[in-house]
Amino acid sequence: MGHVPNIDLTTDVAIPQLGFGVFQVPPAETKEAVATALRVGYRSIDTAAVYGNERQVGEAIAESGIARDELFITTKLWNSEQGYDTTLAAFDASMEKLGLEQLDLYLIHWPVPERDHYLDTWRAFEKLHADGRVRAIGVSNFTEEHLQRLMDSADVKPAINQVELHPRFQQSKLRAFHAEHGIATEAWGPLGQGTLLDHPVLSKIAEKHGRSTAQVMIRWHLQIGNVVIPKSVTPARIEQNFAVFDFELDGEDLDAIASLDDENGRIGPDPTTFNVV
Ligand code: NAD
Repeated sequence: MGHVPNIDLTTDVAIPQLGFGVFQVPPAETKEAVATALRVGYRSIDTAAVYGNERQVGEAIAESGIARDELFITTKLWNSEQGYDTTLAAFDASMEKLGLEQLDLYLIHWPVPERDHYLDTWRAFEKLHADGRVRAIGVSNFTEEHLQRLMDSADVKPAINQVELHPRFQQSKLRAFHAEHGIATEAWGPLGQGTLLDHPVLSKIAEKHGRSTAQVMIRWHLQIGNVVIPKSVTPARIEQNFAVFDFELDGEDLDAIASLDDENGRIGPDPTTFNVV
């Protein structure tokens, strides 16, 4: 079993650098997928209210027999619930589904700039944090501009920003901004949501190391300092994605991957225009 390093979020909270994501995992398959991940050794699980599978994540946690303090559970506030009172209510609903007393990390899922509620939402996040209901608070899909505006009015700085990030969309500028402000970078769609698995440059590196392209991409995230949460429902892939602590990419590999960056490489929505609730 690999040893997963931690990334510090605050002085007393650290997140495992490799976790397991459950976006688009149907509720009926979630409990089994999470149970498999926990058996393999993952201790960090990333879900969201909008994924509709928090209850099944909670069931897998409860049945795992793993001590609560060995697990790191993240969920996210959906766009329609932004605002102070609605956030507090949505948090309670998520916690009831997860069956947890305390959450490790709560994220604002998207900034939703058109509604412009994320500052009020953050005040509710700060209250949940101050009350000890959540150990760390952060955001997702925030641009530099959204982060700066939030930090200008916040008492507690966001600990992490979870954003689309993969070899074709490397977010170097945003990562530098995070580093400057002590915000951890978490990569969603770390495998390009499956679109990069046959990329010739990645295939060549994979062949050189006797690994899969998925393992090469996960290793790349780990080596550049990202928190990374690949998703799969296939047990062999869940296991494979965790077996990434016994090889290392060299300078040549990292240079080749750096060259894949494309400013138009975004696959998901653009946070500056994504206002779906
Ligand atoms: P991903 O990059 O993890 O890719 C998942 C796809 O790759 C799946 O189709 C899976 O079948 C395939 N795959 C995984 N491992 C493989 C392997 N070893 N070999 C071959 N194929 C493999 O995409 P994702 O699920 O979108 O992102 C990961 C997690 O990030 C999500 O589950 C979710 O938790 C989070 N996420 C967050 C947001 C957000 O807005 N905050 C958006 C999307 C995803």
